[in-house]
Amino acid sequence: MKEKILIVEDNPLNMRLIEMILRTKSYTLLKATNVEEAVEVAVREQPDIIILDIQLPDVSGLEVARRLKEALAFSHIPIIAVTAYAMKGDKERIIEAGCDAYLSKPINTRELPRTVAGMLLRRPKNRAEPTSTQIYYD
Ligand code: MN
Repeated sequence: MKEKILIVEDNPLNMRLIEMILRTKSYTLLKATNVEEAVEVAVREQPDIIILDIQLPDVSGLEVARRLKEALAFSHIPIIAVTAYAMKGDKERIIEAGCDAYLSKPINTRELPRTVAGMLLRRPKNRAEPTSTQIYYD
């Protein structure tokens, strides 16, 4: 089964770039451009990883991360935050908001797929396809 990656990014050029970088791998790419859409798609599709642009319109990225974590409370989907403004203390704030990794823009075409692949490897096996007879405790 293909791994699902949700990309949350409001800038069409960055969205295209991330898609291009990840297209060579056999992932299913899901897209959202704002927080409402992101939460809706995340809850419905239960992606394996979320790539989250921290600069989104209307809501701060940290708030988006919190809302995603809240909506996905029991699924522990890792979030990779991507941000252009990396100021002192930002990384700590981003991790504190519930993100699992942090990448700074401009998006690095090698670092992003490596981070995604590394996170997918670290997941407990088979969690994406539980059957009715299996119970998972995290
Ligand atoms: Mn943005």
